[in-house]
Amino acid sequence: MKKPVGRFAPSPTGLLHLGNAWSFFLAWLAARAEGGRIILRHEDIDPARSRKEWMDAIERDLLWLGLDWDEGPDDGPHAPYRQSRSSGFYESALESLKARGFVYPCYCTRKELRTLAGAPHGAADGLGDAGAAYPGACRNLTEKERAQKEAEGRRPALRLLCPDGDTESFTDLVLGPQRLTLKECGGDFALRRSDGVWAYQLAVVVDDMRMEVTQVVRGEDILLSTPRQLLLYRFLGGTPPAFAHIPLLHDARGERLAKRHKSLSIAALREAGCSPEAVAGRLAHLAGLQERPGPVRPAALAERIGGPFPWHLLPKGRILVPDGAERIWK
Ligand code: GLU
Ligand code: ZN
Repeated sequence: MKKPVGRFAPSPTGLLHLGNAWSFFLAWLAARAEGGRIILRHEDIDPARSRKEWMDAIERDLLWLGLDWDEGPDDGPHAPYRQSRSSGFYESALESLKARGFVYPCYCTRKELRTLAGAPHGAADGLGDAGAAYPGACRNLTEKERAQKEAEGRRPALRLLCPDGDTESFTDLVLGPQRLTLKECGGDFALRRSDGVWAYQLAVVVDDMRMEVTQVVRGEDILLSTPRQLLLYRFLGGTPPAFAHIPLLHDARGERLAKRHKSLSIAALREAGCSPEAVAGRLAHLAGLQERPGPVRPAALAERIGGPFPWHLLPKGRILVPDGAERIWK
């Protein structure tokens, strides 16, 4: 068996919080327990939201937790490991899709999209929101209509033409067999925004492909992106990785942990006097990997697992982190 290649793909838009750390902890363990490798890639694709200081802070906090990587974020066999420096790769992928007629310009404004689409898809099942389903309003614009929109000064987003009725199936390591239509996942999706920023779906597939990632561990909130990414793998001729969509951490009120939970950033936990082993021990306990929440080093845990990650031990549904974790997790 080939050893897995996993990755950390943080968006450097803030401090590493416990919710991200949870995903990275499991991604790291799943690779390391089988003697695999980890790549660190900064997804600084949106220049308005990304900052170098967050990249540095994320690296510091991962290492503090005991989560290291083999490749990135600077030089290495698959450099660049920053999406802001990888435009050339996205450009070639786009060209190859365009050449086969899979790309069209969409001139819809946000407001028009809202009116066109009605309720967002996927929001109700708690497994993420693919965004409002795009009804394909710009699919069949004539050259004349396009020229007219351009003359009005509109800049188009570029969308992927998803074949009607396209259905993608895969077996998730955590959630089991999945079968979703592209329509359920939001329909024709953007490859590039109207302001020229590359879309997450294209960038993540191109990067995971070129970095030869074989195992993607991420939150189940992204589940509805996966069929879109599988279609891109097919169109671009890549082999998709195995996917593990993990349940997310929530606060005591049932809200998903996010950057706004300031007291639960890894930096805040460290400053509150929590040890990295204590935090890792709690995460391991939440993942069903140890009966008690006692301290542990991730490396020791990986060694103890010593083979394929036991995904079946993960609890189903949302996982609650108690209030005041920063005082208790010591
Ligand atoms: N940068 C993305 C995020 O932080 C990565 C998602 C993924 O793992 O594909 O949400
Ligand atoms: Zn449109």
